[in-house]
Amino acid sequence: MLGRIEVITGCMFSGKSTELLRRLHDVDNKFILLKPMLDIRYSLDEVITHSGEKKSAFVVNNVSEIFNKVNNIKIIGIDEAQFFSHSIIEDCLKLKKLGCTVIIAGLNKDYLNEEFKSVYGLIDIADSTTKLYAICNRCKKPASRSHRLSNETSKIFLGHKDSYEPLCKKCYENVK
Ligand SMILES: [Zn+2]
Repeated sequence: MLGRIEVITGCMFSGKSTELLRRLHDVDNKFILLKPMLDIRYSLDEVITHSGEKKSAFVVNNVSEIFNKVNNIKIIGIDEAQFFSHSIIEDCLKLKKLGCTVIIAGLNKDYLNEEFKSVYGLIDIADSTTKLYAICNRCKKPASRSHRLSNETSKIFLGHKDSYEPLCKKCYENVK
């Protein structure tokens, strides 16, 4: 079987995790779902979408931790890819070489509209990339920006629903 890398990206609330889980359900096969150790906002061992859907996940520091499990399972889902280090790119290429289909969801940009380099690296090597949009919280047009509503300035600040709002480019420029 030929391996494949699919990336699902966009701003917060654009439905990336929901789309990831939908694709994993669509494949008629067992799959492994991974999430980074960092993302503890809801649960240590589940991916929970903003719409409330849940799925068990392995919590790992690096994607390479599952290399020994892919003998039987050829479908790998990865959520919150922006929190993995740059090594995720090499790890996904290796999984593809092993014949795995890797489906990855991750934020393309942070609240300052700066790129998450690991996700852009994944887009570079992907066989397909899907960009999703949220709905602008102010004008209801398609939104591509994540606006942080709190004063927290660390790059990795986990997204509670009330800490961010999705905005279109124009509304984002207006509130900056
Ligand atoms: Zn707007």
